[in-house]
Amino acid sequence: MRALIIGAGTGGLCLAHGLKKAGVDVALFERDRTPRSMLIGFRVGISPDGSKALHSCLPPEVFAEFVRTTARPVRRINMRTEKYGELLVADLPPAVDETRSEKSVSRIAMRTALLNGLEDVVRFDKTFTHYRHNDDGTVTAFFADGTSETGDVLVGADGAQSKVRKQRLPDAKVVDTGITSIAGKLKMTPETLALLPPDGDEAVTLLYGPKGAFVILHVMHFDNGGAEDDYIMWGFSAAHDKFPDLRGMTQDQLKQVVLDLTPNYHPNLRELFRRANPETVFEIRIRTSEKLPPWQASNVTMIGDSVHLMTPGRGIGANTALRDAELLCRKLVEAHHGKDLVEAVSEYEREMVEYGFEAVLASREQMDGRGAIHKPVIGRVVLACFRTFLRVTNALPPLKRRMMARDMADRDHVDSAHEVVHAR
Ligand SMILES: Cc1cc2nc3c(=O)[nH]c(=O)nc-3n(C[C@H](O)[C@H](O)[C@H](O)COP(=O)(O)OP(=O)(O)OC[C@H]3O[C@@H](n4cnc5c(N)ncnc54)[C@H](O)[C@@H]3O)c2cc1C
Repeated sequence: MRALIIGAGTGGLCLAHGLKKAGVDVALFERDRTPRSMLIGFRVGISPDGSKALHSCLPPEVFAEFVRTTARPVRRINMRTEKYGELLVADLPPAVDETRSEKSVSRIAMRTALLNGLEDVVRFDKTFTHYRHNDDGTVTAFFADGTSETGDVLVGADGAQSKVRKQRLPDAKVVDTGITSIAGKLKMTPETLALLPPDGDEAVTLLYGPKGAFVILHVMHFDNGGAEDDYIMWGFSAAHDKFPDLRGMTQDQLKQVVLDLTPNYHPNLRELFRRANPETVFEIRIRTSEKLPPWQASNVTMIGDSVHLMTPGRGIGANTALRDAELLCRKLVEAHHGKDLVEAVSEYEREMVEYGFEAVLASREQMDGRGAIHKPVIGRVVLACFRTFLRVTNALPPLKRRMMARDMADRDHVDSAHEVVHAR
């Protein structure tokens, strides 16, 4: 069997490794001109689901290299007000082992690590344009440079703006969530670490401000000889109507917008905003997929953001892409060993649509401009209730443990999926 994959992102690279490891002839095509071009270097949290998928698909030495590029793991969830007042602080349970632990990684470092061992598989500067089904059951992918490649199966792993999806499922909708985020990074030094809120080091900190505004802080210590210099990353999100028109703004101006919107936030938090390196500041309007009606499987399928784009809320987009890669890999390997290919794709799609769109909904709950918290008067009441709920939970350890266990369970599915598959 020959598999063609479009897109050398999180899902595409994981799938390519899994197929290559299983002896499938695989080729991956990426539009970026070089491995490091075009990628915004934001931090991605890899959950136990993501770790297990990577461990299952990557050769051991590439998995070890990936682990080496990750930052110090998150030890705590730290929820506070915009003035650093404590709402809920909870320690995460220690990881069982590296194959199923939470990890923090930079997107560029992750791609670099995952490219190891795929030198003969990945081709850069290949922009996919469209595909065509052939009479002999194969599929041909066409590229902007006038070339084409033929295989038995085509996998779109080409992210939010997927061209594969546009042709395969032309009615699929990607909608605006009504939320804008501006994010930036600054160098970690003893001085900048001291600006973090209490319990902020080695934590993911979530700060809930008025008018539905929300700040996330990530602290990236690279202890393993450094994929990158240590850094602190912040992201500020709010409904679109809270922002001025951002079109055409420079990165410095975007940073100033965050400062203008947060005059009463803790001065140390504003200092973290101010100290961001302007070159790292970026803005995104958060979009998400809408649930799709069922479709007939074929030898063209999709994984990750290309089929179920979700908001960064809950940090599950990359992890769901990895889960797709692992599941589709298993199904395609079964087809490689004789199972009907379209049946294998159909089994993958049935399972993926279920957990994929559940994840889309869960992530949208966290970032939805239609939510009451963004409304002028009721928003204040909702914020007060939410903060009270967090403070009460914080004061009652059994309740807090249950909340954390539920959250952790949401990030640790693949074992049960395996069991279901084997039971069948
Ligand atoms: C600020 C931010 C923070 C995030 N944090 C987290 C987090 O903590 N945890 C988490 O799980 N997720 C997180 N996500 C989401 C996560 O980054 C994505 O869900 C994930 O990268 C999706 O993987 P993918 O393989 O589907 O697509 P991508 O990783 O986006 O890869 C798609 C690839 O396809 C290529 N491509 C596109 N079009 C073409 C074409 N026509 N031809 C050839 N190649 C093409 C692109 O260049 C790209 O390399 C975050 C997202 C953002 C924006």
